[in-house]
Amino acid sequence: MPELPEVETVRKGLAKQLLGGMIAHIELRREGLRFPFPKDFKEGLEGRRIEQIDRRAKYLQFRLDDTSIWLVHLGMTGKFTLYSQNDIPEEYGKHDHVIVTMEDGGVSVYTDHRRFGYMDLIAADEEENHRFFANLGCEPLSDDFDAKALCKSLEGKKSPIKTALLDQRVVAGLGNIYVCEILFRAGVSPLRISSSIAGKGAKVTKRAELLVHETKQVLIEAIEAGGSTISDFAAVDGDLGYFAHSFRVYGREGEACHNSRCSGVVSRISQGGRSTFYCAKCQR
Ligand SMILES: [Zn+2]
Repeated sequence: MPELPEVETVRKGLAKQLLGGMIAHIELRREGLRFPFPKDFKEGLEGRRIEQIDRRAKYLQFRLDDTSIWLVHLGMTGKFTLYSQNDIPEEYGKHDHVIVTMEDGGVSVYTDHRRFGYMDLIAADEEENHRFFANLGCEPLSDDFDAKALCKSLEGKKSPIKTALLDQRVVAGLGNIYVCEILFRAGVSPLRISSSIAGKGAKVTKRAELLVHETKQVLIEAIEAGGSTISDFAAVDGDLGYFAHSFRVYGREGEACHNSRCSGVVSRISQGGRSTFYCAKCQR
C-alpha cells in the first residue's frame, strides 16, 4: 500500500509530466472505484488546465484552473501510468479504470486492481471542511509538526504510541511500515503508553523530540529514495518509492537488531490487527 513517501513520489512524477497541461478527455471505464465517481466528474475535469499538484496526507490534489480540486487517493493498489502520444497502448486492461487524455495527446491511465482507491472533484472552498481533510492532524513534514504539537496530542492518551502515530488525527499520513521504522530509530517501544511521551502539562520531552526528528528523517529519506526512481513516462507507481532495502526493522522478525550497540533480536507482535516489528531490548 502506498504510504506518504510513495504518494509524494507519485505526485512528483505526475507533476513532471502534467503541470500546465489541459485535460482534453476523460474516459471512466466503470461507475466508480471504492466510491462512485461524483456527479459531473467527467464534465468537470474536461477542458481544465492542471495548475498545481499538491499532496495532503495520502491524498493527491490536482488544482485546476477554475479553482476546483481533483482529489485522488490511491487506496491499496492504485497507480498512474503515463504514456506519450507515441506509445499509447492499443487496448486497456480490465483494471485500467480512468483514462485521462491530455491536450498534447499524452495519456495517463489510473489502474487499481483492488479498487480501494477513490476520487472526488470539489470546489476550492470545500477543501478545509471536506470529509477527507476535516479530521486530519498536521503534515509530518511541515513546521507545525514539532515536539510541542506531538506532546499536546499525546497528553492523556492511554493508547500505545504505535497506535497513536497511526491515528490520522495525531499526525497525517503515517502508515504501518514507517511508524515501525520511526519507533525503532527513536528507541521508543511501540507498546509505550502515549501519555508517557508527553511530559506533565504536555511539557516537551526528549522522547517526543526524538520521535519528531526521526519521523521527518525517515520520510525525507524515503522521498529521496523514491525521487531517484522517477523517469519520464515511467509508471508512476505507488511501489516505486519504497526504500525496501533500507528498512531497519520492518519485516526483519528473528534477525539481529540493526542497532550496533544492541544484542537484541527483532520480534513481531500484532497491534490493532497490524504487524509491529521492534526490538524489545533497545526500544523502551
Ligand atoms: Zn535492539
